[in-house]
Amino acid sequence: MRTSGKQRVLVTGGAGFLGSHLCERLLARGDDVLCVDNFFTGTKDNILHLMGNPHFELMRHDVTFPLYVEVDRIFNLACPASPIHYQFDPVQTTKTSVHGAINMLGLAKRVKARILQASTSEVYGDPEIHPQPEGYWGRVNPVGPRACYDEGKRCAETLFFDYHRQHGLEIKVARIFNTYGPRMHPNDGRVVSNFIVQALKNEPITVYGDGSQTRSFCYVDDLVEGMLRLMDAPVAVTGPVNLGNPVEFTVRQLAEKVVDMTGSRSAIDFRSLPVDDPRQRQPDIALAKETLGWEPLIPLEAGLAKTIAYFEERIREGLA
Ligand code: NAD
Ligand code: UDP
Repeated sequence: MRTSGKQRVLVTGGAGFLGSHLCERLLARGDDVLCVDNFFTGTKDNILHLMGNPHFELMRHDVTFPLYVEVDRIFNLACPASPIHYQFDPVQTTKTSVHGAINMLGLAKRVKARILQASTSEVYGDPEIHPQPEGYWGRVNPVGPRACYDEGKRCAETLFFDYHRQHGLEIKVARIFNTYGPRMHPNDGRVVSNFIVQALKNEPITVYGDGSQTRSFCYVDDLVEGMLRLMDAPVAVTGPVNLGNPVEFTVRQLAEKVVDMTGSRSAIDFRSLPVDDPRQRQPDIALAKETLGWEPLIPLEAGLAKTIAYFEERIREGLA
């Protein structure tokens, strides 16, 4: 394990939305990056601009199988994140979270690497406590259609803490709340990308339920900064730590804002609410502020403007 200077960093899920931004930031600060991805939801397009960099390496690999490489740090992001994608093959989703965690923790143990898990606000399920602090144990339906993701991520957290207690591994667990930005997949079904693409195409904006459910949206650059700070924090800072933007909106407010910012002619089309859709979600980020000196800096409008510009370009190129 290297303790100073250039780090060899493995990013699983590195060709995905968050992973591609993380790879970019790591390279920019001088690290060597190994991006591992099976391209289930990620694409080579997301990392095409990094391919010519001699400090960047891409490996097609599924984390449910063991991986033998030599690295100093591991960011474990591999896992589909949008409900449509993680419910497409729920057994594989649980395997990716659980077997993937076991394989990456095993790797970390062998090479004495520090390892960070991309966990999720979904570990809180449909919460009775608002906003959600890390000490809240959550309210997850273990047999519902979201359970493959929620319980998979909960089990991965358990594995991280057991490897820490049992084998002394240096672990970091980030509970990520809804994050958006350029390179979200245009068809991945998440609310921000859906609304922007629909608005830009003047198609109906699909609001599920009456749109009174809430989410708190974090721009990708803020989130990546939080993940880097957590990875670099002293060993004692293991988390779990919430990373997200605490400014909360209803889904309907988001729809109206996107229509307004794009100057769209789209009307709102109310659809049925998916099963187990959480009513409200807002991170309590006191712990991240205190231990990482981190809080999001980019307000929703500024982040949406950048994301809208990205999707405009994709649509112009015929790629969305
Ligand atoms: P994404 O779907 O864009 O990225 C996931 C990446 O993992 C993709 O490139 C995909 O191909 C890859 N992948 C999936 N299964 C794999 C496997 N078995 N082996 C190797 N690669 C595999 O999603 P994202 O938004 O970038 O999310 C990244 C991570 O952050 C995920 O673990 C997700 O659970 C977590 N997270 C994201 C959010 C968010 O709002 N974006 C919120 C909470 C948690
Ligand atoms: N949603 C919506 N219309 C869409 C996609 C999502 O109203 O086209 C709602 C969804 O029901 C949820 C919220 O937006 O209440 C966030 O959904 P997303 O899939 O982005 O993430 P979640 O937080 O549910 O994992």
